[in-house]
Amino acid sequence: MRYVEEFRDPVAAKSVLKAIEEVVNEIGATPEKPVHIMEICGGHTHAIFRYGLDKLTPPGIEFIHGPGCPVCVLPMSRIDECVEIAERPEVIFTTFGDAMRVPGSKKSLLQAKADGADIRMVYSPLDALEIARRNPDREVVFFGLGFETTTPSTALSIQQADRENLSNFSVFCNHITVPPPIKVLLDDPHMVLDGFVGPGHVSMVIGTHPYDFIARDYGKPIVIAGFEPLDLLQSVLMVLKQIRDGRAEVENQYARIVPEHGNPVSLAAIADVYAPRPSFEWRGLGEIDSSGLRIRDRYKAFDTEAKFGVGYGAGDRTIQEPEGCECGAVMTGRIKPFECPQYGKGCTPEMPLGALMVSSEGACAAYFQYSAAEDVA
Ligand code: SF4
Repeated sequence: MRYVEEFRDPVAAKSVLKAIEEVVNEIGATPEKPVHIMEICGGHTHAIFRYGLDKLTPPGIEFIHGPGCPVCVLPMSRIDECVEIAERPEVIFTTFGDAMRVPGSKKSLLQAKADGADIRMVYSPLDALEIARRNPDREVVFFGLGFETTTPSTALSIQQADRENLSNFSVFCNHITVPPPIKVLLDDPHMVLDGFVGPGHVSMVIGTHPYDFIARDYGKPIVIAGFEPLDLLQSVLMVLKQIRDGRAEVENQYARIVPEHGNPVSLAAIADVYAPRPSFEWRGLGEIDSSGLRIRDRYKAFDTEAKFGVGYGAGDRTIQEPEGCECGAVMTGRIKPFECPQYGKGCTPEMPLGALMVSSEGACAAYFQYSAAEDVA
C-alpha cells in the first residue's frame, strides 16, 4: 500500500477485524477476561478513538492508554518553573501550543501571557532561534518538551545557536525518553499488560532495538505501529498472534517509516547535545531513573537551567495534583478517563483541570472528543 487512503480501506479493515476476532476466540479472551494491550503513544490513543477502533474490535480486547503524551506526563512543578521563567521581564518564552493551557499550581502559560508575560507560540525551535536573532536585547527561552520525536530538532537548534554564538538563546530542557517508563509499568505488580503497540514516530528516531528488553526480559510482545486505522488493526492482530503462539518478539508493522537502527543523523545530534539525568519526575509515575535528558556541559551556555538557576537541582519542587484529579491513575491504566470524578464536570477541554484533558494526545481529551456524551452520562 502506498497512499493514506489505502490504510483506511473499509473492506481491508473488515477482513483484518475478522482475523482479530478469530484470534481473540482462539486465545479465549472474553470481556470478563480480556487481553490487555497498551498503546504507549498518545497519538495512537487519539487514532483509536478517532476511528472507533475500541468499538470495532471485539470486547475481549481492552486497550490500556500508556504514558506516551509528553505534555500529559509533565509534572505541575515544571509548568510552575516555566511560568516563573516566562514572567522575567527580560525573557521571551517560546513554546509549542499544546503546553500553553497545561495547568500549573497557580496558573498556566496562557494565563501568564494574559497577565503580561511575553510568551509566544512557535511551531519549531528554529522559530525560537529566529526570534532570538531579531531580539538581541532579550533572552529567548525555548520550552524543549517531548519524547525522542522532538528531541533531535531541539538538539539541532542548540548546535546552530552554538555555531552562530547566539548568546541570548537557551532551552528549558524537559525532553524525556520512552523505554524507562515502560519498564516501570512492567515492574508494577498491579499492572496487567499482555502486549504493547509501540510508538511509531519515536521509533523512527531510535529504531526497534531499544524495546528488546520488553520481549527478552518480560516475555511480552510489542509491535511498532503506524497511525492509520489499518496500521493499528494490523498491529493489534500481530500482537494477538504472538500471544496465541506463545511468542514474545519486537515486530515492526511500520517498516515503511521505522528503520531497524533508527535515524543516524538524529541519534548523533542527541548524543552530542544531551546526557541522561539521574532521574526525572513523571506525572502519575513519580521519579524514573534515566528517563529525562539534560543539556551537556559543552552546551551549558544554551541551558536555561544553568542560565537562570532553575529546574532540577534547584530544590524540591514536587507539587500535589489538584484534589479529585486522577491523571496518574488514568495514565497507568488503573481507571478509564470517565471514571475520574472530574471528567466532564470540573475538567473539560475548555477548562482543563489535568494535563490529559489539554493535549490532543491526552487520553481524557480523546475520550471527551469522541465519546463524551455516552461516557459522561
Ligand atoms: S478528567 Fe481531568 S482531572 Fe480527571 S484524569 Fe482526566 S485530565 Fe485528569
